[in-house]
Amino acid sequence: MFNSIRVRLTLWYLLAFGALLAGFSAYVYSALSQDLNRQFDVSLLRTAHSMANYFAEFVERKNVAAGARETVLELQLERLGTAIFREDELLAASAPDTVAAVASTSILVSSRTSREPVFATDSRSGKRLVAVTAPLDGVNYEVVVLEPLAELRGQLARMGRIIFVGLPAALILAVGGGFLLARKSLQPVVTISEQAARISARNLDERLKIANPKDELGKLAGVINSLLSRLETSFRIMREFMADASHELRTPLAIIHGESEVSLSRDGTAYDYRGSLAVIHKQSNRMARIVSDMLALARADAGKQQLIVEELYLNDLVEECCRAAQALAVPKGVQLTYESSEDVSFRGNEELLKRMAVNLLDNAINYTPSGGRVSVKLASEPARVRLIVADTGIGIPPECVDRVFDRFYRVDGSRTRADGGSGLGLSIVKLAAESHQGSVDVISQVGHGSTFTVSLPLDQAA
Ligand code: ADP
Repeated sequence: MFNSIRVRLTLWYLLAFGALLAGFSAYVYSALSQDLNRQFDVSLLRTAHSMANYFAEFVERKNVAAGARETVLELQLERLGTAIFREDELLAASAPDTVAAVASTSILVSSRTSREPVFATDSRSGKRLVAVTAPLDGVNYEVVVLEPLAELRGQLARMGRIIFVGLPAALILAVGGGFLLARKSLQPVVTISEQAARISARNLDERLKIANPKDELGKLAGVINSLLSRLETSFRIMREFMADASHELRTPLAIIHGESEVSLSRDGTAYDYRGSLAVIHKQSNRMARIVSDMLALARADAGKQQLIVEELYLNDLVEECCRAAQALAVPKGVQLTYESSEDVSFRGNEELLKRMAVNLLDNAINYTPSGGRVSVKLASEPARVRLIVADTGIGIPPECVDRVFDRFYRVDGSRTRADGGSGLGLSIVKLAAESHQGSVDVISQVGHGSTFTVSLPLDQAA
C-alpha cells in the first residue's frame, strides 16, 4: 500500500493539512475563549460599578443598612448574585450562596489589600466573582457581584464540539479530494508506464503518446521516446552487424565444408590433399581476419580497448608495410612507391597503425588493375602527420564515397577483390585513425583512382 505514490502523497497531504487545521483550530478556540472570558469579566465589573454608584447615594443620605438592602433588591438581576459588605460585616446579600462563594474565595481579603477590582472563580459552585472597593464617607464598602459560568462554559463546549466534529469531517473531505487529485495527476504516469511496458525489442519503433510536450510528464515522455530512438538505432546496427557477420563467415565456412567433404569422400593423392588443405588454410585465414577485425571493432564499441601506446617512428612503420605490400603489388603488375622525407616520431599503438597502413595498401593494390600505380607518402607538418595512399585504380562512385568506411560495406559485389574482402578493412582504418584522435578522408574518381588521407595529430597520445 505504501509503495503507491498516490497513497504516500495522500498521507503526506493528510498529515500536513491535519497539522495545519489542528493548529488553526486550537488557535481560534483559545483566542475566542480568551475573548469570551474577558467580555464576561467586563460585564461583571460594569454591574459592580453601577451597583456601587447606586449604593453611594444611600450612603450620602446616611441610609446605609436600608440602602444596601435596597441596592441588592434593585439590582437583583436574573442569574446574578450580589452582596454589600462594610469591611467584613455583611450588610445585604441577594442569596446565602453568594455569601458562601465570597467566603470560599476569600475575595474580600484580596480586594482590601489590592484596592483594585478583584476577580475570583469559585470552582465548587462554578461562579465567577468580582469585588469592588467603594470608599464612601470615610468607610470602605465592598460591593460583590457574581455570575454562574455555566452559560459561558456551555458556549465554549459548543464551540469545542463544532471543532471536534468539524475537524475530522474536513480532514475526510480533504483526504478524499487529495486522493482524487493525486490519482488524476498521476494518471499520465500510469499511462506512460503501461505504454512503456508494452514496448520490447520486437516493437522498438513504437513511441509513447505525448498529450502535452511542454509539461513535466510530456518532457519525461519525450526523453523516454528519444531513449527509445537511440535504442532502436543501436538494435538495428547490432542486428545488421550480426547479419553481415554471419553472411561474411558463411562463404569461407561453406568453402571449408565443401572442400573437406570432397577430400573425405574419395581417396586422393598427397598432392590432392595438399591442394585441399591449402584451400582450407586460406579460408581459415580469411575467417580469422574477419573475426579479429570484428573483435577490434566490438571492443572499440564497448570502449574496452585499452591501447598500448609506445614511441615509434611512423616512417619506419609505413616503410615496412610498403615492403611487405610489394609481395602483392609485384605479381599484380602494380608499381608501388614510397616517399618520406624525414623521421616522424609518433606516440601510438603499433599494431593498430600497421593494420591501418596494410588495409589502405591492400585496397589500393587490389583495386588497381595491372600497369597501374600506387604511391604512398608520409607528410610531416608541425602539428600533424598525414599518410597519403593514392592509386590509379578503378575509383569509387561518388554515391558510395560516404559509405565505404561503414562496416561490411562494399561498393558492389562484382568489384569484390580476389581474396574476398570482408568490407571491414576501411572500418578498421577509421577506427585506428580515430583511436589516435585523427581522421581519414577519401577523394576518388571512377576510372582514375582514389586517394586516402589519414591525418594524425602529432602532440596527442592515443
Ligand atoms: P574490402 O575488404 O571489401 O576491401 P573495405 O572496407 O576495405 O572492404 O573497403 C570497402 C569498399 O570500398 C570496397 O569494397 C571497395 O569497393 C571500396 N574501396 C576501398 N578502397 C578502394 C580503392 N583504393 N579503390 C577503389 N575502391 C576501394
